[in-house]
Formats: sequence, C-alpha cells, structure tokens
Amino acid sequence: MKVALRMSQLHVPTLKEDPAEAELASHRLLLRAGLIRKAAAGIYTFLPLGWRVLRKVEQIVRDEMDAIGCQEMLMPAVQPAELWIESGRWDVYGPELMRLKDRHGRDFCLGPTHEEIITATVRDELRSYRQLPISLYQIQVKFRDEVRPRFGLLRGREFIMKDAYSFHATQESLQEHYDAQARAYGRICERLGLDYRPVVAESGQIGGSVTTEFMALAENGEAALVYCDCGWAANVEAAATVVPRNPAATEPRDLEKVHTPDIRTIAELSTFLGIAEHDTVKTMAGKVAVEGEGAGKRDSTDERLVFFCVPGDRELNPVKAGWAMPGVQLLDEADFEKHDLPKGSLGPIAPPEGALVIADRSLEGEVSWGIGANENDYHFLGAMPGRDFEVDEWADLVIAEPGDGCPVCGGELKGARGIEVSQVFQLGTKYSEAMGATFSDEQGNERPFIMGCYGVGITRSLAAVIEQHNDENGIVWPMSVTPLEVAIIPLGMEPEVFGPAEEIWRALADNGIEVVIDDRDERAGVKFADNDLIGFPYQVVVGKKGLAEEAVELKNRRTGERSMVPLADAVSRVAWLVAEEREKFCH
Ligand code: ATP
Ligand code: MG
Repeated sequence: MKVALRMSQLHVPTLKEDPAEAELASHRLLLRAGLIRKAAAGIYTFLPLGWRVLRKVEQIVRDEMDAIGCQEMLMPAVQPAELWIESGRWDVYGPELMRLKDRHGRDFCLGPTHEEIITATVRDELRSYRQLPISLYQIQVKFRDEVRPRFGLLRGREFIMKDAYSFHATQESLQEHYDAQARAYGRICERLGLDYRPVVAESGQIGGSVTTEFMALAENGEAALVYCDCGWAANVEAAATVVPRNPAATEPRDLEKVHTPDIRTIAELSTFLGIAEHDTVKTMAGKVAVEGEGAGKRDSTDERLVFFCVPGDRELNPVKAGWAMPGVQLLDEADFEKHDLPKGSLGPIAPPEGALVIADRSLEGEVSWGIGANENDYHFLGAMPGRDFEVDEWADLVIAEPGDGCPVCGGELKGARGIEVSQVFQLGTKYSEAMGATFSDEQGNERPFIMGCYGVGITRSLAAVIEQHNDENGIVWPMSVTPLEVAIIPLGMEPEVFGPAEEIWRALADNGIEVVIDDRDERAGVKFADNDLIGFPYQVVVGKKGLAEEAVELKNRRTGERSMVPLADAVSRVAWLVAEEREKFCH
C-alpha cells in the first residue's frame, strides 16, 4: 500500500515546550512529537503517527511468533471472576486487578494477563498428547492498576502486551519451545534496534520456575542488573551473588554488651562501636505461617518468626528471603508491636522463642559480629556464631551489587540499569493443576498440561526504543519502527520549489517508501525542528538555492550528515538508503 502523506493534513500536534510531568526522554518525546496524549494517569491515546509505530512494533512481534509456529488468536479483555477463583488468584492478586460488576451483579475483571482464560479454553478443547505441543498468542490490551503509573508508556495502567502460552506433554518439549521463544525475543529486540541483555530473573530459586527477562539497557531504567564478562547477567532482584568479605576483626573476642542510645543507622552504629560497617550485622525479622495443631482454625499466634542476618553494609533481598524461607513476609509496624520487638536492635542472640536464624553466607566463618541485643538501645560487640548464638541456616540473602563475585565464574560483577521489555517463563503445572486442565498421555493416564508463558510489552518496548534512540533535537527512529521513512521538506510553497518536492514525494511513494511532505506554510526553522523532533530517518530539503544547481539536500537524522544530491538522482539515492537501513533490521 502506498504511503504518501501530507503534513498539513496529518494530526501530529507537536509541542514546543517540554511537558512538565515527563521525567524521562521517551515520555517527553512521545508527548512532544505528537505521538500520544494522556487520557488519565497511565492511560493514553495513540495519535496517528504513534499508532503507525505501534503497529510496526506489533508486526515485528507477530512475524517472530508466526516464525516459531505460535498461532495468533484473540481473547477477551473482560474476564469472569469464576476463572480467577478457580486458579486461586482472585484473592491474591490484590488492588492491581481492576474488578467490575455487570448489571446482574456478577464479578469480572479487566485482564492483567490471560493464563486463566487460555487454560480454560484449552482445557475444554485439548484432550490427547497427540494434540501437543501447542503454542498460542494474542496481542491485547492489558489492565493493571499500578500503584505508581509513571514514565508514560513505560509503566501504564492500560497497555498492550503480546502474550503467548504453550502447552506440553513433557518438560523436554516445554524446554524446546521456551528456548525457541527466548531466541525469538532476542530477534525482536534486535529488529526494534534495542541494545538489550537477557537476564536471569530467578536464578536462585531452588526447584522453582525458570525464567528470563529481556532488558533494554537504559540509564533511567527501573531495573538494576548485574552482569559478568563470562556472559552471565541477572536482575539484582534475583541475582545469586558472592559477597566479597574482608572482616577487620579476624580474632575472636569477648562478648560485650554496649549501651547505644539514639543510634539509628548502620553508619552511626559503626562509628559509635568503632568497627567497620561491614563488621556490623543487620537483623531483619519476618514471619511464616506454621501448620500446627491449630491448623485449619489458625489464629494469629500460629506464626513463626525468622531473623535474617546480613552484613551491615548490604541490603536484605526480600526475594531471596523467600527462597530461604518460602512464604515469609517481612514484619510491619503492627507485627513489631504485637511481638514486642525492638526494631532497631534485633539480633540473633536469645531471639524470641521458636524464632529461626538465617544468616547470609558471606558471614559464615566470621568470628566477631557487631549486632543488636534484642533490647532497645543495646548492641553486642564480638558476638561469635557457634559460641554466643546458633545460626540455623546459611543462605544467599543480599541484593547483588557491582563488585560482587559472579556466581558462575567468580569474576567481578558490573552493574547496569534496564527496562524489562519482555519475559519468558516456564510455568510448569501451576495453572493446569489448579484448574484441572489435563490430557491423556500415551498410556491413557490423565496428566496436567506442562505450560510456558511468554510476554512482550508492546507499548513499553516502543517507549524503550525512544529511550535509547534520541538526541537533544528529538527522536531518532530506527528504520524498522519509524512512523514514516522519509520527509520531504520544501522551503517555500511557490511552484518552482513545491513542484519538484512533490515529484520526489510521489516517486518515492511509488517506490514503496513511506513518505511525508511538509506542505505546511511554515518557516523553514519550524519545519526543521518538527521533522527532527518526530525523528524521520531521512529528510530531503528542497530549496531555491539548491534547485538553482539542480540539487537537493539530503539529511541523515541519526548522524546529522547533510549532502547535496543531484535532483535527478534524489529518488534512487534515497530509495537505496532506505532499503539498506531496512535490511539491517531483517533477520
Ligand atoms: P514489572 O515488573 O515491570 O511490573 P511484570 O514483570 O509484572 O512487569 P509481566 O507480567 O512479565 O510484567 O508482563 C510482561 C511484559 O508486559 C513486561 O515484560 C513488560 O514489558 C510489560 N508490562 C508489564 N507491566 C506493564 C505496565 N504497567 N506498563 C507497560 N508495560 C508493562
Ligand atoms: Mg515480568
């Protein structure tokens, strides 16, 4: 289909000023370049050029899904509560789930994801191992009532996702498709022009699920990553890590109780006690429900306390706390009151009865800890595990940091930030078991489907592209997703100038190039600024001066390079450049 547009007729309301609410480049530029408009917090309208980009991103994702045999379908955005009750998520999903009632008072939600619907669909239709494996996907609007919708399209409340779900008879079959999806996700990132890294998202989870996140690298990304030259990379939320330790106190000393009034921070404590911050130990308390005699009619006393000890200069990673003690929840203010615990002086010596002590592995072998005394305003110096208290378990508990050791090769980890654009996940039988979705295997036994799910944030990816491809003048689109490939900018509306400009415009469109002519009766400066802001990869400037020498000016938006091209060659030159750039993003 020919794409030859006129700027005068396009609805691209560019803004001269930076919108005050936009902190990140992608948010600012999406608004300024007239691609999106806000309808409510985290909810946006796509204007014509934004919509063009969105459809290109979708098409790349669609191509790559089709190429691995994943079949497109479409599920409803409105989902009946019954399915969520079956899977057990109606109660646990929390306020992020947008719930509504129909006129009969029945409960529904706006889908934040579609495991329930797809599992229910497949459960009723697929019966035999002979029909497996199967992989299905959709490109759909999703709803999540995020606590803090922000950064424009990066964290919305209504956003578009490609979500795929696969069903298998065996783990090997799941692994094979999971790998194919992961490879497709890599290609999607490449075709979008994203500088990205696949990262381990839950490496330490013993016997747990396998998952990889794809991170678009970005200084302002919400996610923190660590990576090693050996190729290993992980989200710090889930990064196993080897904490380098260099305790100053290497000899055991006597246990000494110290009065530490008004000490609030680790820095204050280390100064007060006269020991290095990394020789102090922080203790954080959590609780787990226990199945005891009272199980079934469990009251609030049926919980066990867990003390987590980590080096004073490091942070406890709540995800890892959960790996060490599944189901653990860190205590809140009310819990501290209930158990009458001294929040600022917790420690492993004489913990409350029944409490477990789990300490970070890096502390193993250290003989002199500066720790809380489980008494307000008191700490111990010289506390020694094995002598003064027992550690029930040593585990990797801290948030990984650059400078730590790589869990694979021991090399030094480096840090980066990223935007999670997509994620692949081995679900196993979590949903199929909960929802009774089974098939009969070769022996005729009923078995739950083994499932995988795979999500690409379409709108988030679009924003990530801009986050990586912009300069002080605006967006610099990769050819693969640019709203239009070439802009023709006539410097004047008089026929001697506009005529040749229009001819180039028509000829390029005839050559299958997506082209716009800036036919607005505006000053050259305004046109240049807008075309740079919107970020068309090539601009052809047609002016009297050039035409006098039978030439037009060709500008490369990315490099800023300008060159004069003979009028007669303009069309073929531009068509060739566009073709070459398109080629870069084909795989
Ligand atoms: P996050 O941790 O950033 O909240 P998530 O891990 O909950 O995201 P998934 O359930 O894995 O998200 O969803 C798949 C993809 O959908 C994500 O990789 C991301 O690209 C996109 N996505 C998730 N939440 C949002 C959102 N609020 N706005 C835009 N895109 C989103
Ligand atoms: Mg995710």
